Amino acid sequence: MTDLRPTWVDVDLDAIAHNVRALSFAGSELMAVVKADAYGHGDVPVARAALDAGATWLGVALVEEGLALRSAGIEAPVLVLSECPPGSEMLAVSAGLTATVYSSAGLDRLAAIAATARDRVGVHVKVDTGMHRVGVWPPEDVPAFVDRVVEAGLELDGVWTHLACADSDDVGTNGQLDVFADTIDRLAAEGHRPRLLHAANTAATIRHPRARLDLVRVGIGLYGIEPAPGVGADLGLVPALTWRSLVASVRRLRAGSRVSYGHHYEFERDAWAATVPLGYADGYPRTLSSRADVLIDGRRCRVAGSVTMDQLIVDCGDRPPTPGDEVVLLGAQGDEAVSAWELANQSGTIAYEIVARIGARVPRRSFGGGGPS
Ligand SMILES: *Cc1c(COP(=O)(O)O)cnc(C)c1O
Repeated sequence: MTDLRPTWVDVDLDAIAHNVRALSFAGSELMAVVKADAYGHGDVPVARAALDAGATWLGVALVEEGLALRSAGIEAPVLVLSECPPGSEMLAVSAGLTATVYSSAGLDRLAAIAATARDRVGVHVKVDTGMHRVGVWPPEDVPAFVDRVVEAGLELDGVWTHLACADSDDVGTNGQLDVFADTIDRLAAEGHRPRLLHAANTAATIRHPRARLDLVRVGIGLYGIEPAPGVGADLGLVPALTWRSLVASVRRLRAGSRVSYGHHYEFERDAWAATVPLGYADGYPRTLSSRADVLIDGRRCRVAGSVTMDQLIVDCGDRPPTPGDEVVLLGAQGDEAVSAWELANQSGTIAYEIVARIGARVPRRSFGGGGPS
């Protein structure tokens, strides 16, 4: 469909490629984590750009997300990071997605499918080493679990874990990595040597070289966003996403005028106000009301009053904007930039949530990466 609305997201695939290279380290393959529509960036173009730049794996949260990559013709290995929900195993296996297993029931369901499959069915076993979300727990149970995997006719291609505090707590992270190393030693003692051991998200890839192992699972860094403010600041990651709109209407308001629902924002002086056609239904947080800046003509303008469902108003001060002027909500314009962390700090969240929640009704346009996709 042609995109009719003048609000969209631009994604720079050359930035994605640059970030893949910046996060590639000798000896470790790179999995581009493209779950949640590539953190709001558009999964298929991002996946292609990351693979072209040297990523060897893709990571998704849902079977549906893996199937969408396959439908687009992407043939690279895809790891489903959560266990396949009941009933989804056949689709996952026949699409050649690699399943993660960690529960007894999940293993049984996958084994039943594998028994009917023509090809070998490789799996990755996830170990809970301290995040305490999912994974085989306690880690001492991993050898027995792996024995069951192999007895069921599944191939153990990988063993992995996930780190809870890789951006902050070195002692805790090293503790988790020690538990993981012990687990791998126990498996080796029983003759199990999976080809791929992995533990690192972006923060661990940057801050904990010992976590890189055979493969790193890079999400947020792929998009040029630091996993926590300052982490990886020296790597030169390039933000890939710019969220744009166009000024819809302009009015001159008198000092004392109040705008938007609740009239919470008062213009202290005579000023120009511009209306921008996007709102919280597009994922622009309502908690940014009267707090965030947008960029118009390379300058910051404060969001004036409540962000509404489909529109917001900005205070342009003495500078009259013109309908059709470009507005940048997130990203750079001229010498100014609004980062995902800036919006996250102003709205009480993390940069991941800012980009991942940009709504499905905001069209994504990608450029670079050897051509439009
Ligand atoms: C989302 C996810 C990642 C990527 O994390 P980033 O912090 O975005 O790099 C890695 N591993 C798992 C299991 C994940 O769910």
